[in-house]
Amino acid sequence: MANHVDAIVIGAGFSGIYMTYKLREEGFTVKTLEKAAGVGGVWFLARYPGARCDSDSIYYNYIFSEELYKKWSWSSRFAAQDEILSYLNFVADELDVKKEMQFNTEVKFAIWDEDQTKWLVTTAQGEVFTATYLISGVGCLSTSSIPNFQGRESFKGESYHTGNWPHTPVDLKGKRVGVIGTGSSGVQSIPVIAEEAKEVYVFQRTPQYSVPTRNRQFTEEEIAQFKEAFLDAREIMLNSPSGLPIPRSTRSVVDTPEEERIAILEDAWEKGGMILNNAFYDIVIDPKSNELVSEFLRGKIREKVKKSDVVEHLLPYYYYSTKRPILDTNYHDTYNQDHVTLVNLRQQPIECITENGIQTTEKEYPLDIIVFATGYDAMTGTLLKLDIRGRNGVSLQEKWENGAKVETYLGLGLAGFPNFFTITGPQSPSVLTNVPTAIEQHVEWISDCLNYLREHNVKTIEPTVEAEIQWSKQCTEIANGTLFTKTESWYTGSNIDGKSRDFLIYLNGLDNYRQLCNEVAEHGYKGYQLQYEEIKA
Ligand code: NAP
Repeated sequence: MANHVDAIVIGAGFSGIYMTYKLREEGFTVKTLEKAAGVGGVWFLARYPGARCDSDSIYYNYIFSEELYKKWSWSSRFAAQDEILSYLNFVADELDVKKEMQFNTEVKFAIWDEDQTKWLVTTAQGEVFTATYLISGVGCLSTSSIPNFQGRESFKGESYHTGNWPHTPVDLKGKRVGVIGTGSSGVQSIPVIAEEAKEVYVFQRTPQYSVPTRNRQFTEEEIAQFKEAFLDAREIMLNSPSGLPIPRSTRSVVDTPEEERIAILEDAWEKGGMILNNAFYDIVIDPKSNELVSEFLRGKIREKVKKSDVVEHLLPYYYYSTKRPILDTNYHDTYNQDHVTLVNLRQQPIECITENGIQTTEKEYPLDIIVFATGYDAMTGTLLKLDIRGRNGVSLQEKWENGAKVETYLGLGLAGFPNFFTITGPQSPSVLTNVPTAIEQHVEWISDCLNYLREHNVKTIEPTVEAEIQWSKQCTEIANGTLFTKTESWYTGSNIDGKSRDFLIYLNGLDNYRQLCNEVAEHGYKGYQLQYEEIKA
């Protein structure tokens, strides 16, 4: 049949590239449909000034192939967006997967055909494909969100979202630029925007803790050493909770004597990167531990910001690390510059956007450019937009009650949605790990599963309702034992107006999760129901 393949993969980012390769190598036919004009996923789209990765570049890559790893050399400790995009193109070319991919093709609708036991996939461009398996590689942060500011359309200047930045340079020179949002995207872009713009206005709702990246160029010798140490590093990454070569910490903040605690924090601060938030095991568990680390980080902000009337507005008081930890280069120092103005939205909320700029309850800020660094409809946003319908035409929106009741099994599959898999889906470790490592684990598990189905003449696989309920309950219980659920963040869905609050990340670590997934497979896909092909006599 025309346009029929064994598997359709949605998205050509980190997930889609590896999934496509893996299945093709296993002898399955694959078609990968990607809305954008090239590979890269979020790294294709988020081209804002200062966009950079927060995982050390030498770990923010595929580790399944030693040969592939050794062919690529990162230029600096934290790679910029364009280098990551080049890397993903390099991998896609090395693995020769672009021939399985169709770009500028947006999946609009997918429905399970009960009689044919196939997925029917329709694109916005009007094409129809069928596939035995449907695999989502849409990522957790791929639907950018702009809050519904009144009057947004009336603004006469330019406006951009960090997650959907133009492909041609935006000229900031001599411009008055307003940035709304101080998450990772805002914190990375504000210092870079301030280097060019005439005036910068930062519209901040919640101040942020931040740790320096300490980014630097690598030397040839260092690159050679990383490659030499690859196999050892990979071993630790595969067995660590974060997917980084950082073993599980056994140290408690409160139980560590003050002098030693400060020394550990200072050392992590000097080293930069994600070392500090991984230095103790109880930062996001024990409020007292959290406060000690939070106060340490507030002290760093007080040291950096010289303007006494500004610094108090920049001090965060939420539990550190319960919003996604932020790394920066010169973020807080930027506020020492006279052309940078902090607007505290807790004191003067945005009333509307006008023709000329942003109107708060206190005054109008005239602007030439507005940058929306306002984040993403994370975890479920993209999946819910796709219009996926399982058995009996039941949509994902209906199953998940429009986000009010999200349940999955292992973040990998859904009851009522046969032969459907979600790479880094809700309730998997996903964004609380080094994401490429989590992606590899899912891709390999799915690929093994499809092999099993083929070898055992299994027609359909889907989680049981009971397994799904149990898994969701377990995820919620683990999350409720932490401080994560006590903070408003995109982790909990509270960044999107009207979105239900839920914590959709499995928090017991990638190491434990990997073991659980392996056990499920080893026990003949425990928690799933399998429907076998009828063998004709
Ligand atoms: P984000 O962390 O969700 O931050 C959005 C910002 O917009 C927050 O400061 C938020 O304030 C503000 N905001 C949202 N709605 C608002 C409203 N109605 N009025 C005023 N302010 C509003 O989004 P992001 O910075 O794009 O980052 C999202 C995630 O993407 C990161 O956490 C990270 O996982 C990933 N990311 C990674 C990198 C990297 O690796 N370097 C870079 C960028 C992004 P509140 O805090 O008060 O809600």
